[in-house]
Amino acid sequence: MGNKEDCSSCGKGLIGEGYSIFDCPNCGENIIGRCRNCREHNTPYTCEKCNFTGP
Ligand SMILES: [Zn+2]
Ligand SMILES: [Zn+2]
Repeated sequence: MGNKEDCSSCGKGLIGEGYSIFDCPNCGENIIGRCRNCREHNTPYTCEKCNFTGP
């Protein structure tokens, strides 16, 4: 892995502007993707590796 092309919250593809991709703040081993819509609505995400949940 190492690539993240889908939003971790809603599963939609990360296209256009406004999305963000970052390492999991808990384990640092998973890449979290968030689309613009989920960022604007503070939709929670869950790390697939450590199950960390956060906005
Ligand atoms: Zn999303
Ligand atoms: Zn994690």
